Amino acid sequence: MAKISPLQVTPLLPGTNCGECGEETCMAFAVKLLDHVYTVDDCKPLVKEKKYAKKFAKLKEMTTPPIRAVKVGVGERQIVIGGEEVLYRHELTYYSPTAIILSAPDDNLSLIEERAKLVRDLEVYRIGTLLKIQGLAIRSKSNDPATFAKAVKTAIATADIPLILCSTNPAVLKAGANAAKGKNPLLYAATKENFKEVGQIALEHNCGVVVYSMDLNELASLAASLYAAGLEKIALDPGIEPSDGCFADSLDRFMMLRKAAIKGDKNVGWPIVTPIASAWIGKDPNLSEAERIETAFREAEMGATFIARASNMLILHSADSWLLLGLMVLRQGIYSDPRINPSVEAKLYEIGNPNENSPVFMTTNYTMTYFVVKDDLEALKLDAYLLLVDSEGICVESAIAGGQTKAEHVAEAIKESGLENKVKHRIIIIPGLAARISGELEALSNWKVLVGPRDSGGIGAFLKAKWDGKLDQLMQEWKEMQEE
Ligand code: SF4
Repeated sequence: MAKISPLQVTPLLPGTNCGECGEETCMAFAVKLLDHVYTVDDCKPLVKEKKYAKKFAKLKEMTTPPIRAVKVGVGERQIVIGGEEVLYRHELTYYSPTAIILSAPDDNLSLIEERAKLVRDLEVYRIGTLLKIQGLAIRSKSNDPATFAKAVKTAIATADIPLILCSTNPAVLKAGANAAKGKNPLLYAATKENFKEVGQIALEHNCGVVVYSMDLNELASLAASLYAAGLEKIALDPGIEPSDGCFADSLDRFMMLRKAAIKGDKNVGWPIVTPIASAWIGKDPNLSEAERIETAFREAEMGATFIARASNMLILHSADSWLLLGLMVLRQGIYSDPRINPSVEAKLYEIGNPNENSPVFMTTNYTMTYFVVKDDLEALKLDAYLLLVDSEGICVESAIAGGQTKAEHVAEAIKESGLENKVKHRIIIIPGLAARISGELEALSNWKVLVGPRDSGGIGAFLKAKWDGKLDQLMQEWKEMQEE
């Protein structure tokens, strides 16, 4: 999609600056619309007033990404899959992180409950962000509408999370969709045999549907037929064959679909769902623990591969914590915005309750550096000051090498932070990776510089060796430094 500027978007908005969208001006809305903070539908006057109908249609067409965004679920846990504009992350950014969905069969209500709770409750705090998994796929193992409906109701009673209803039997899907009325589930899957009935159920419930075919022409044609029938929430599954010999073909199909979509083939411009749970197809339910882990590992490998290729949704069988954590962390890295160096505010932070004798640490304002150092200091139960110097969000080693952080910047930051009124000593501990600026920093700041460990995990041992009980001695050395 050609890059659109806010100047092209603004004339298509009402221009009344009414503020209904939460922005003070239409121009501010236009900027955020292009940054995917809003959708066109968030400008209510544009949607509601007939006189804007043409502008609304034009703006909608102009801002619809080549891979259309599809919402699944409702409320706070609603997810958006798709919405991507580029094939590779470095070309712009990816907008909607891969949804990680656990699966459970409909004939095991306790497992459904257990997994719904896991999806609801699992939260991992990492680098300033809460990582979660997104939803539950209920698989119709029974092929019985009543059993399936009961399973769906059990999941809904347990947690208000996005649901994927999996069966190729329209009667089963209908029972599931009725049980999940108003919850905006995703029906999975429409095939060439059932797409008319499944499409009808999706239309009746205004929910999305995943189209499945390993034949890409057939897949495109089925999606086009459903779209022509009025469905606007579609996703695609080009199939996965987990065995070593066939997996490369699965990946090829996936990439061909993504490339065609980004190049503008509207028939396949939909999010892609990858059911990596297929690693378990044909496996004996009584696998040994070693075989179980081996299969889960295969699932993890496939999941990592598809997250790296920007799959929009993974459906997993395994719920091992090592697998979920690994995929969530990988996803966090892939879906960070490459246009922005992840940074936190460069200023003086207090760790615990520091006093005038507390140690002072310095590092750069790269997010990952900040959170890792902060967590390490807190784990030591230290009362300390942590001075973050603005490195444009770059880590210590690169910022020192690239000149974003120089001795003069640290000296200025010490002065501006007011540290000289907060502590009675003049000792600052800098990262081992910034050792090369220590001499110049002492000269510019008039503080004694201690070169700390290269890794903040070594701060505890460093303090024992160089700080604890040594403040008087260090200040004596500082005084001698003044006399030189
Ligand atoms: S709601 Fe629409 S018209 Fe009102 S300020 Fe926002 S963009 Fe402009």
